[in-house]
Amino acid sequence: MTNEKLDSLLAKAGVRQYDCYQCGKCTGGCPMARAMDLKPRGVMRCAQIGSLERILKSNTIWLCTGCHTCVERCPHDVDLPALMEEARYLASDMGYERRDSKVLNEVFIANLKMFGRNHEMLLAGLYNMIAFKPLQDMSSVPHMLKHGLIEIKPHETQKSESIKKMIERAEKLSSVRS
Ligand code: SF4
Ligand code: SF4
Repeated sequence: MTNEKLDSLLAKAGVRQYDCYQCGKCTGGCPMARAMDLKPRGVMRCAQIGSLERILKSNTIWLCTGCHTCVERCPHDVDLPALMEEARYLASDMGYERRDSKVLNEVFIANLKMFGRNHEMLLAGLYNMIAFKPLQDMSSVPHMLKHGLIEIKPHETQKSESIKKMIERAEKLSSVRS
C-alpha cells in the first residue's frame, strides 16, 4: 500500500504524525482502549512507520467514540478522533469495514429515522438478528426491563420528521464525498 494514501488521510484529518512523541497519555485516558486491538498511541506509531493497513484493519477505528479525551490529554493536541473518522471512510472505501460495525450503524440510523431517537430494545434485537447472534445479551433483558433501563414500546420524538430529513441530507452529502 502506498504512502500517498496515508499522507492524504493525515492531511484530511489535520494530523502530523511526528507531532506525536509516544507519551501514551491518549491511551491512558481513552475509555475504549481496553477493547481496542491497536491502542490510540499505537495508531500514531503505525502512522509514523507507514503502516496504514494495520490502522485500517484494526477494530480501533470503529470503537472510537470521538469523545476527545485523548486530544484534551495530548501535549501536542494530536487530533486522534479526526484521524479515526478519516480512517473509517478510507477503510469503507477499501472494503475493510467490519460487518458487525456496518450492521450496527445501519440499524441505528434506521431506528433514528423511524422514531427520531434510538430505541434500545429494537436496536439490540435487530442487530442480533442481522448479525446472526440471536441470543446475545438476552440474559440482561429481564434486569434492564425491571429497572427501567430499556422499554418495550418505542417513544417517538416530536421532531422525528426533522431528524429523518437531517439524516437524509447527511447521507446525500456523504455520497457526494465518496
Ligand atoms: S498523547 Fe499525543 S503525543 Fe502522547 S502518544 Fe498520544 S498522540 Fe502521541
Ligand atoms: S476520541 Fe476515540 S481514541 Fe480518543 S479517547 Fe475518545 S474513544 Fe479514545
